[in-house]
Amino acid sequence: MAMLYGKHNHEAEEYLEPVFGAPSEQHDLPKYRLPKHSLSPREADRLVRDELLDEGNSRLNLATFCQTYMEPEAVELMKDTLAKNAIDKSEYPRTAEIENRCVNIIANLWHAPDDEHFTGTSTIGSSEACMLGGLAMKFAWRKRAQAAGLDLNAHRPNLVISAGYQVCWEKFCVYWDVDMHVVPMDEQHMALDVNHVLDYVDEYTIGIVGIMGITYTGQYDDLAALDKVVTHYNHQHPKLPVYIHVDAASGGFYTPFIEPQLIWDFRLANVVSINASGHKYGLVYPGVGWVVWRDRQFLPPELVFKVSYLGGELPTMAINFSHSAAQLIGQYYNFIRFGMDGYREIQTKTHDVARYLAAALDKVGEFKMINNGHQLPLICYQLASREDREWTLYDLSDRLLMNGWQVPTYPLPANLEQQVIQRIVVRADFGMNMAHDFMDDLTKAVHDLNHAHIVYHHDAAPKKYGFTH
Ligand SMILES: *Cc1c(COP(=O)(O)O)cnc(C)c1O
Repeated sequence: MAMLYGKHNHEAEEYLEPVFGAPSEQHDLPKYRLPKHSLSPREADRLVRDELLDEGNSRLNLATFCQTYMEPEAVELMKDTLAKNAIDKSEYPRTAEIENRCVNIIANLWHAPDDEHFTGTSTIGSSEACMLGGLAMKFAWRKRAQAAGLDLNAHRPNLVISAGYQVCWEKFCVYWDVDMHVVPMDEQHMALDVNHVLDYVDEYTIGIVGIMGITYTGQYDDLAALDKVVTHYNHQHPKLPVYIHVDAASGGFYTPFIEPQLIWDFRLANVVSINASGHKYGLVYPGVGWVVWRDRQFLPPELVFKVSYLGGELPTMAINFSHSAAQLIGQYYNFIRFGMDGYREIQTKTHDVARYLAAALDKVGEFKMINNGHQLPLICYQLASREDREWTLYDLSDRLLMNGWQVPTYPLPANLEQQVIQRIVVRADFGMNMAHDFMDDLTKAVHDLNHAHIVYHHDAAPKKYGFTH
């Protein structure tokens, strides 16, 4: 690889044409050291744009949950606030106020009880928010365990979660020395197995994580049922109760609008904290997440630091320090711009497109549907078994890419890894017209594959293809 960029590249450079009329564009881009000379802004812009040219179009990226469209007014507003550092709360007190308003709005959306004192913060995304939720559980557990006289050195603390966890929980456990007690998933249990979850809980359990929207399949853990078994457990273990953190990275800004009657949030007594990604169904460009605790007692004071604020002090608990305030401001823009009705309308449309796509894909006759968008608006399917089919889902991903669509194919997590699935995430900017275009392209791709002479793949082992976050 490095050879290509090495000193012996002079001949190659001679073939670079100055298409845009400036001699500096005749040179290859610096890849290893800061260039000696500067370029004009126009040239630098041109060269960097060209470098990005053959990358996928984000609107056609059906792999990501992250927002790929915001309104021009929101983008302008965010551009104008890029230079504000969100942590400088005394310099930008209105921005700090806007963050607090967002926390209020979100706590209300998730039914934080009136008689408790919720608290929360913005983060860079759900990964940081999950770190904070996990750390709070670890610190609070340690205090309870000490008071109960447990030997803290006898075992490492553990966290209980289903095998459908997102990688941030693996990071949490590695970074903070926590064992992960993984509740297996199988074909009968494609989410947290509530009947067996307590088998994984012991005195060293810092908490149980429920997932509102498993990243791989879009299924929800049954939080109400989990809350019930936890209530029962806590009656029997009053000194060392366990609590629930809900990883609602995707569902946190989706479920309240699409299934308001579904009870998964602070209405459940044992749910102490919830995180969500503002940049998923909160409809903001990447770079914002949220975590809220139902009551301050669940956020140990050691994790709260003070920054100066208008001559006074304001608590901060985020891990990151400096970052632009633009995403926060984009989130507040969306809240006041859309309101309950607007969010409901947007998510309902997204839901309808997902349901249409699921039905249309089922009709193709080649797929066994695994998730048909009835919860999160994502669709997963395997190939239906057929002896004489020569192509795989990886081949189908390749064909779809010829039309620009990026559709990931990957194996399911542990125990289910022999099942290779394809996943489509529907977002607000993926309208019905695009869905029709997609189905036209997919139908043609399947037809072409069925009539192609296929060279078999030698490597039969499942592989990952495309992002799965
Ligand atoms: C996306 C996702 C995360 C990570 O969120 P980021 O905002 O990308 O950091 C964590 N958990 C679940 C369930 C997710 O879907």
